[in-house]
Amino acid sequence: MARDEAYELHALTFRYGQRHAREVESAKRLATALGAAGHKVIDLDLRQIGGSALTAQIPVPKDRGVEEIGAGIPVTYVPARNTIFLSYALAWAEVLGSEDIFLGVNALDYSGYPDCRQEYVAAFERMANLATKAGVEGRLALTIHTPLIHLTKAQIIQRGVALGVDFALTWSCYDPTPHGHPCRACDSCILREKGFAEAGIPDPGSLSSRSDTSVR
Ligand SMILES: [Zn+2]
Repeated sequence: MARDEAYELHALTFRYGQRHAREVESAKRLATALGAAGHKVIDLDLRQIGGSALTAQIPVPKDRGVEEIGAGIPVTYVPARNTIFLSYALAWAEVLGSEDIFLGVNALDYSGYPDCRQEYVAAFERMANLATKAGVEGRLALTIHTPLIHLTKAQIIQRGVALGVDFALTWSCYDPTPHGHPCRACDSCILREKGFAEAGIPDPGSLSSRSDTSVR
């Protein structure tokens, strides 16, 4: 969506101690496919802090219903993750002289993460303009764009298809199988499957996982 608005893309990905590196590989392929001018993979060790099923020895919830997923903040919440990620993005934006950060958070069809809400993003944007030299000197007025925040998963998929996104390159699963395929049982897999079903579009990312699932 940023590229469609003719922005030059500088992509930012984090290897933060999550359960798997598979999503980092997908991010690299996507950055290349989108023709990003730059792509950084930042190493952080949030396992030193833990407190989440993604960064500690806590099982990832499986086979939950959509209503159950929507009730309360799940154990896959990573403490303060988006604040940490946005802080890195803010620092890089200041160095690049960029006024625009795009963040793919989504508050609908979602798990109720506090740092995916509009009021959180607005508060961070306000803080960002107080926190930077470029902001205080009046050279840059930073905007945080969240074009997905009020879209359903189905609408996100439809927009992506219209813009030519190759969804086979994308990744959603929290807990891939040992063969590196989506588990098709975690909240993220279930919401992705629901989104593609509601959009009436087959998921090119799930086709390769079927044989693997029968083994699980
Ligand atoms: Zn999964």
